[in-house]
Amino acid sequence: MARRKKIYEGKAKILYEGPEPGTIVQYFKDDATAFNAQKKDVIEGKGVLNNRLSEFFMTGLAQIGVPTHFIKRINMREQLCRSCEIIPLEVIVRNYAAGSMSTRLGIEEGTQLPRPIVEYCYKDDALGDPLVTEEHIAAFGWASQQDMDDILSLALRVNDFLSGVMLAVGIKLVDFKIEIGRVYDGDFQRLIVADEISPDSCRLWDMETGQKLDKDVFRRDLGNLTDAYTEVARRLGVLPKNASPITKPTLIN
Ligand code: UDP
Repeated sequence: MARRKKIYEGKAKILYEGPEPGTIVQYFKDDATAFNAQKKDVIEGKGVLNNRLSEFFMTGLAQIGVPTHFIKRINMREQLCRSCEIIPLEVIVRNYAAGSMSTRLGIEEGTQLPRPIVEYCYKDDALGDPLVTEEHIAAFGWASQQDMDDILSLALRVNDFLSGVMLAVGIKLVDFKIEIGRVYDGDFQRLIVADEISPDSCRLWDMETGQKLDKDVFRRDLGNLTDAYTEVARRLGVLPKNASPITKPTLIN
């Protein structure tokens, strides 16, 4: 097989040139990092689960008319996506206080917010992805006012969709992060949901027990991360009951 050209390697994924112009291949690694990569590990099976879960969420979003970069899953670790220009913002939507918001504002983790709150962080690892306001975004030209209106609307639609999907399987969507890409159809530009949606980029708590089923399990040493992600996948019907991504790989093809 011809060697594919690597475009970019991030903390959890590698991007390769796709088979057609305008496409890329996203490869999901097993690497887990936290605290701006100060904590690192390899979690066997994580990439396989995130590939499947991101496929599940992106496909569901497309079905309700939210545009995404996802085209199709290629194999256990790779998916074909539309290439896009990533807007250098992490778009965070919060339904309950947790993580950096709890620290910053002194609100106890788990407190329900009066309404979903959308925050923006500037994507820059060296700076630790600092929180920015729409003033910074406009002044530095990272996105236009029209882009910001579209980003807010996409973020809230993704929130409604994900919250509902999770609620149906007894999971509370505490918060999540998405990234937005720009694509051009001729002269016309559109924004689409890009990157990934997985337990790496969401906070997911079991509704009854409060058990964490997301990357906080790794960040805070709360147990086995693959078990937590497998539980999310199993509840969503992405993995058949009792299937493990490691011991029974044929079941998830
Ligand atoms: N998040 C992410 N990537 C980042 C920062 C945050 O996916 O680089 C997600 C994180 O998993 C959580 C949400 O965004 O679901 C809000 O994260 P927060 O700002 O509370 O940051 P943290 O406490 O994780 O540093």
